[in-house]
Amino acid sequence: MKPKKKDIRSLSKEQLRAFFEKNGDKAFRGNQVYEWLWHKSLHTFDEMTNISKQTREMLQENFVINHIEVDSMQRSEDGTIKNGIRLHDGFIVESVLIPTEKRTTACVSSQVGCSLDCHFCATSRLKRMRNLNPDEIYDQVVAIDRQSQLYYNRKLSNIVFMGMGEPLMNYKNVLKSIEKITSPEGLGMSSKRITVSTSGVPKIIKKMANDEVKFNLAVSLHAAIDKVRSSIMPFNEKFPLKDLADSLIYWYEKTGRTVTYEYVVWDGINDKKEDIKALIDFCQHIPCKVNLIEYNPIDDGRFQQASSRAIDTYISSLEKHDIIVNVRRSRGKDIDAACGQLANKS
Ligand code: SAH
Repeated sequence: MKPKKKDIRSLSKEQLRAFFEKNGDKAFRGNQVYEWLWHKSLHTFDEMTNISKQTREMLQENFVINHIEVDSMQRSEDGTIKNGIRLHDGFIVESVLIPTEKRTTACVSSQVGCSLDCHFCATSRLKRMRNLNPDEIYDQVVAIDRQSQLYYNRKLSNIVFMGMGEPLMNYKNVLKSIEKITSPEGLGMSSKRITVSTSGVPKIIKKMANDEVKFNLAVSLHAAIDKVRSSIMPFNEKFPLKDLADSLIYWYEKTGRTVTYEYVVWDGINDKKEDIKALIDFCQHIPCKVNLIEYNPIDDGRFQQASSRAIDTYISSLEKHDIIVNVRRSRGKDIDAACGQLANKS
């Protein structure tokens, strides 16, 4: 049996250059192919017009270009577009385009399913099947950038890793994808416009600080009392708030970058005075801001968005302590494209 062909995009530029040299060609050919693969995002060798037919055939014999396919597309009444993305091995993940007046944001997935078990999140019901490769994350960004140009006449401006999966449980590939997204040899986007959202894996947050990453960090906090947090995000037992706080202090000391806490207020779960007090205390660790996100129902009776009075109390209490707080309205709810609703319903 013939050995399985390697995915050419798993090779670094250096490896691609070495491949051509080894095969009696110029290393420079590697640069040309690399540019087609990443900067121009081609998915077939035949379109590489400055590469000879013979070389293209040689590449075809040795490699495949695994790539994603937009399998389904749903458009919300607010303009949000949810894409079902088919991976080369048939798995489906979801990526969302979120337009606002001035921006287009891509919300991308990092895993098939999710490693974590947050009770309020639809994705947690899907077992983690595998991590996405860097090219699969990159391709989602390219696909949404194209949709943004097609439907909104402007380029993609921001990226959030808030789709399916826990990005820090696939840290290596997420980092590689961001390297490609920000490199002039890839999409040349600014890392300031990229936000990685995590439920909080302390060891990896410290690693990110050591790696001196330049993108933004958001932490899905939802509760600042261990008992409460563990009851809705069971993995908190393994990574308690104290460890999370330590890693965030380390992050801030190393990078000088603030953190955004994402927080949903639920009726009877985290809407008490002591919950607010704990959040205010947690916010003292490092400079931060709080995004209060609207709850997107996932048919689980235990979770109901708290009353607007409870939310107003949160806002005024945080503001009294000079903590910046934003209220985030959800987008694409009518098509299950909002935070926590990604679960391949179709
Ligand atoms: N695993 C990562 C990224 C995916 S979730 C993380 O936990 O951050 C993206 C955001 O949506 C997180 O802040 C998550 O807590 C939030 N979220 C999950 N389910 C939600 C729901 N049903 N309604 C509103 N936000 C939700």
